[in-house]
Amino acid sequence: MNSRKAFLPPRRILMGPGPSDVATRVLEAMARPTIGHLDPDFIFLMDHIKAQLQYAFRTANPLTMPVSGPGTAGMESCIANLVEPGDVIVVCQNGVFGGRLKAMAVRCGATVVHVEDEWGRAVSPSGLESALRSNPAASVVAFVQAETSTGALSDAAALAKVAERYECLTIVDAVTSLGGSPLEVDAWGLDAVYSGTQKCLSCAPGLSPITMSDRAMARVAHRRTPVQSWFMDVNLVTGYWGSGTQRSYHHTAPINALYGLNEALLMLQEEGLLAAWARHKQNHLALKAGLEVLGLEFVAPRSERLPQLNAVRVPDEINEARVRQRLLEEYSLEIGAGLGALAGKVWRIGLMGYSSRRENIMACLSALGQVLTYEGLCVSATEAQAEADRALRQPTLP
Ligand SMILES: *Cc1c(COP(=O)(O)O)cnc(C)c1O
Repeated sequence: MNSRKAFLPPRRILMGPGPSDVATRVLEAMARPTIGHLDPDFIFLMDHIKAQLQYAFRTANPLTMPVSGPGTAGMESCIANLVEPGDVIVVCQNGVFGGRLKAMAVRCGATVVHVEDEWGRAVSPSGLESALRSNPAASVVAFVQAETSTGALSDAAALAKVAERYECLTIVDAVTSLGGSPLEVDAWGLDAVYSGTQKCLSCAPGLSPITMSDRAMARVAHRRTPVQSWFMDVNLVTGYWGSGTQRSYHHTAPINALYGLNEALLMLQEEGLLAAWARHKQNHLALKAGLEVLGLEFVAPRSERLPQLNAVRVPDEINEARVRQRLLEEYSLEIGAGLGALAGKVWRIGLMGYSSRRENIMACLSALGQVLTYEGLCVSATEAQAEADRALRQPTLP
């Protein structure tokens, strides 16, 4: 490629595990003039973003802000602040991302009690309970609410209840759930929750909204050792993201990325959070109806499925990578491959945020149906679309 040429990305339909399609108005917001990160107008924007994130997380936590970094940075931030050497931490793992939580906790010096569930299943509250019963020294429980690697949705409310019974704080990965399926930070008593902007918020990648309860903040305040990451230390960053007009330099905020986040959160508020949850659910049911006509089976059992990430098994005789390549090259449609233990075995079809809409469902069923036909399967894209259409005409579920 000529290095002096401007980069003109192709137009894609993003139906993988993230990033999802970014609405034009979000992209336009990001193109507005850059101002200083301590400009009073920018401080006003920061406060506005904070209030909108509180709305999306359903929390009144004063520490609610976007970490400057992708979802992984929010994950690392929660672990680095709440975990210190000698702590006993329970990490539930039912996919790739639980494994990262564990690795980060180990790096922070914790003794990790690892609770494993089958990939593709929700985290089991009774499994967590027995781990807590046999490890009375545990003080934190970490789990992933929406496992994007397998398409499984765990019952965060039930897991938090178990953790509370054993006087443990919770660290919850809500990267793929925020804005896409029910998440009630205050009502469920979650303590440190992190997310990402490029999944159901449909914003450009690179920011990680987090929120921490007063209990979590008290734990940070009473640490025996300083937070091992200077950048992630919430005690320091609140000097910048805190309240009032006196803000001091901590790092240069990604100004234009925050313009985009503000716009994406505005779109969420205009639609209404509950309406957004319902839309994700209904579109999932429509896509599912169509995928089943194409003969594809879901990894997760019906009651544990994540509406915004549809993980389906690749039929035996099909070359999974070639199907994805054809979708990309011939239809400009991106779907995801399997990760970790599911690599080569599944496709992950995302219906996140702005990507979760009728035209995408129809485009995906048509393209996938055609490609599977070329690859030798006897399936009907038209019938798949008709089933999806039927599902979309059902009244919206509450
Ligand atoms: C995408 C994702 C992450 C990581 O987010 P990045 O923005 O890629 O760093 C973490 N957890 C889950 C469940 C995710 O889906």
